Amino acid sequence: MNKESRICQNCKDSFTIDPEDFDFYKKIDVPPPTWCPDCRLQRRLLFMNERTFYKRDCDKCGKNVISMFPASPRKVYCSHCWWADDWGAEQYSKPYDFSKPFFKQFVELAAEVPELARYVHESSLVRSDYSNICSYVKDCYLIFNSDDDTECSYGEFLEQSKSCTDISFSLSCERCYEAINCYKCYGSTHIFDCEECVNVHFSRGLTGCTDCFGCVELKGKKFYFFNQPLTGEEYKKKLAEWNNGSYSTRLEIEKKLKESALLHPYKYIIDSRNSNVTGDFIFWSKNVSHGYEIIMTEDSKYCQFMTFPFKTSDSYDFTMWGGGERIYECLGAGDGQRDVRFCLHSWSQAFNLEYCWYISNTRCDNLFGCVGLRNKQYCILNKQYTKEEYEELMPKIIKHMNDIPYVDSKGRVYKYGEFFPPELSPFAYNETIAQEYFPLTKEEAVNKGYKWKEPEQRNYEITLKTEQIPDNIKDVSDSILGEIIQCQHAVSQINADETQINADSISANQRISARMEQCTSAFKIIPQELQLYRQMNIPLPRLCPNCRHYQRMSKKNPIKLWHGKCKCAGLKSENGVYANQVKHQHGDTHCPNEFDTSYSPERPEIVYCESCYNGEVA
Ligand SMILES: [Zn+2]
Ligand SMILES: [Zn+2]
Ligand SMILES: [Zn+2]
Ligand SMILES: [Zn+2]
Ligand SMILES: [Zn+2]
Repeated sequence: MNKESRICQNCKDSFTIDPEDFDFYKKIDVPPPTWCPDCRLQRRLLFMNERTFYKRDCDKCGKNVISMFPASPRKVYCSHCWWADDWGAEQYSKPYDFSKPFFKQFVELAAEVPELARYVHESSLVRSDYSNICSYVKDCYLIFNSDDDTECSYGEFLEQSKSCTDISFSLSCERCYEAINCYKCYGSTHIFDCEECVNVHFSRGLTGCTDCFGCVELKGKKFYFFNQPLTGEEYKKKLAEWNNGSYSTRLEIEKKLKESALLHPYKYIIDSRNSNVTGDFIFWSKNVSHGYEIIMTEDSKYCQFMTFPFKTSDSYDFTMWGGGERIYECLGAGDGQRDVRFCLHSWSQAFNLEYCWYISNTRCDNLFGCVGLRNKQYCILNKQYTKEEYEELMPKIIKHMNDIPYVDSKGRVYKYGEFFPPELSPFAYNETIAQEYFPLTKEEAVNKGYKWKEPEQRNYEITLKTEQIPDNIKDVSDSILGEIIQCQHAVSQINADETQINADSISANQRISARMEQCTSAFKIIPQELQLYRQMNIPLPRLCPNCRHYQRMSKKNPIKLWHGKCKCAGLKSENGVYANQVKHQHGDTHCPNEFDTSYSPERPEIVYCESCYNGEVA
């Protein structure tokens, strides 16, 4: 097949289907997509509520629990009741009805099967009630999409880590604070894209470094301060002066970092140990195209957030977790699965699934349109068939899906081969992770036919205003653990009343962003984080955990690629700011290399190709 251009059903922009894409669709026997890759990702993400919680009663045991669902007509079970053996989702089974579109029948089934309050398996959690989409975590608080962690708080996509706070997309870290995309780091704070570093602070792109502060793109260095080498004694003095536990010093450091960030070259992609990949944040992978936050993946395209350390291959449009073969258009899948398509939160030991929700940790195969089943084969809409009946019925159902497709309120058509329509999501758009990567205003979301929920009015009795927080951690007493602290973003939200909006666009923007960031307006400090702050000289945060999360996310490049050219002009960077330390292969003429990069062309950073970057940073 040749490359083809199509018009996306959702955004109406054109997108390209490459010859190898057609080969893949043919191999797994699905029609080519009708939505562009970005819209497909957005559609999957709006089914994932990671951090919007409500308190409600379990509809089985009556216990008041933390849940992704507010009190609603939908039946919700706590994870203890949901995983118990005394009920089965097969009791809600429906015969397939050829007079109704499939998705209409599916949503009726999904509305009857009890929901799991949080996507967790009770038996794998120890004292971690406020965690969601986690397994094997112990003494963790407000962590999401994470596994095998101990005493961690406020983090997401965190694996095999210990005693970390405010951390995202990291693996095997210990005693780290404000870390993003780090691997095997210890005792470090404010680090981004660092690997095997110890006692490193306010740094980015460091590998194998110890005792460095305010540094960018270094390898195997010790006692560096803002990229300048010091003696051990000098470094100690500088550290005492700058790592002093004061919030105002922290602001000063951040200002200095902002200035120095534009002085050094960056590689066009954050990756390591790969061959033949495009995207960003890709590790231990090969032949991956348009990947974002991927580890251990091969021969795959348009995959994101594959942070579970297990091999994935031959997959497209696979978002979250990882580990499996021939997975297509799934959100939350992996751990050794094969041939799973159009599924949501279906995980581990399940094979040959299509259009299923919540088929997890259970031996299942050959299920179509099922919700919450365990240990079943050959079921459609939760109804049991024989193998022969199933195989006879399936082609008829696929034909029926194409003959009488579901059409949503905006006229988008869903035949066989399409992921679930957004209006089937149990969540409002702004409760989901879609809002983080594709932020929309209420009006935009509603125009697209996505659900929207007005954030609940939080009437916390603030006992400590943001400006009353002590500047230095040394001046914080244990009584802080009893305070309800106001989030700084909530302050700007209150200050920016309607009349001010036009006059003061900054506070208007802050106000909008506070709403978009699911600001909870107030927060508490828990004992284990206070201990870490004291031990590591970290001032108290001024923002609530959700605002801190959005702030971390804003430091990353977007899930988008532009075609770019190396900004190495020969002896210096194109803008003349950085002078190369070594001679490059291309001599004193401009480097001819081009690449796909998540840096948009108008950004001010000095972006180098791999060879020029390695010349400078190796
Ligand atoms: Zn589109
Ligand atoms: Zn219960
Ligand atoms: Zn906030
Ligand atoms: Zn170059
Ligand atoms: Zn060069």
